[in-house]
Amino acid sequence: MNAAYDLIIRNAQLRSRPAGSLADLGISAGRIEGIAPRLEGSAAVELDASGGLVTESYANPHLHLCKVYTLQRMDEAALKDYHGADMGKAMTAIELAARVKEQYDERWIIENVRRALKDAMRYGCTHIRAFADVDGKARLEGVKALLRAREEFKGVIDLQVVAFAQDGIVREPDAPALMEQAMALGADVAGGIPWIEYTEADILEHVRFIFDLAVRHNKDVSMLVDDAGDPGLRSLEAMALEALRRGWQGRALAHHARAMALYPTPYFQKAAALLKKAGMGVVTDPHTGPLHARVRELLAEGCLVCLGQDDISDAYYPFGRNNMPEVAFLAAHLLWFTAREDLETLYDMITTRAAQAMGLKDFALREGAPAHLVVLEHKNIIEALRYHEAPRYVISHGKLVE
Ligand SMILES: [Zn+2]
Repeated sequence: MNAAYDLIIRNAQLRSRPAGSLADLGISAGRIEGIAPRLEGSAAVELDASGGLVTESYANPHLHLCKVYTLQRMDEAALKDYHGADMGKAMTAIELAARVKEQYDERWIIENVRRALKDAMRYGCTHIRAFADVDGKARLEGVKALLRAREEFKGVIDLQVVAFAQDGIVREPDAPALMEQAMALGADVAGGIPWIEYTEADILEHVRFIFDLAVRHNKDVSMLVDDAGDPGLRSLEAMALEALRRGWQGRALAHHARAMALYPTPYFQKAAALLKKAGMGVVTDPHTGPLHARVRELLAEGCLVCLGQDDISDAYYPFGRNNMPEVAFLAAHLLWFTAREDLETLYDMITTRAAQAMGLKDFALREGAPAHLVVLEHKNIIEALRYHEAPRYVISHGKLVE
């Protein structure tokens, strides 16, 4: 058979094949149509991987995209509080960071967003769950900028826009109505941060409000939970229980969960069991705060865990460039994931597992799946993570985009 493809990648090293056993990939109509040691046929675009690793492209399930490059707009008080002793001042950090939002304007936010998304393209990050603050200060400026970017980058970067009640629901009187408006404008995900509320009752009300909104609009839920140095925080548990009550299994995603590091072990075991029951994944970003979720133990319990970039030059973190292998490289040190199989796991946590957490179906390097791929300079995972360089080629929806 002499098939014609839209695009062929030749001489690819795949993770599933022994070193040096290369394959060709044929792509048509946005999908991987053939994988074989030597594909017959031709294509308008033929790329030579020269023995370099070809994998799924990267997915980033957690990025505060409305805040990127805002660090220079503010003093460093918030950063110091968030990273301070025992994460005891995480709440004041968020209050200080909110000051930048008094200047929020879609017109300058979109410029920063474009810069961050161009970096994402360059580094092969084709799918992003992007948070936009929704509150009395930010109003809908961030949401509007992100919705615009979702259209501008369509077919190249798939943005899931999260309407995110960063400053609370109960303690932020303008938030409920604005959250409704954000969903009506077309946000993809309902986002909350229940632990920020002052009382247990308010935390539960926050969780219920976000799920109400999600269920009414038939959208997924993302929430930042237990994100301070307090072992008594229980918003992860409240979120998992609500997901179960609403039948939202597999549609709720937890972020941060840094207090998990301090949970007493019997309570951690209960939380892990609830996560599994609710089909709820955890996105961790150990590089952006002094505490992090118990990744190795969660994996041992069979929970879904993945990595997120979290921030790019904002009040919480000075670096970042949507380079997910760089995030995995940092995580390798912070989590002490350095054995060969640990590195393979980290790589899954920025590709297939991250995509699964985002609810993306069929995100895999196999025949019939959508072609979201990177062609790397290096031949194996260790070298790819060591250098975390931009891929040689980036393919999104079957098209060469970088
Ligand atoms: Zn975050």
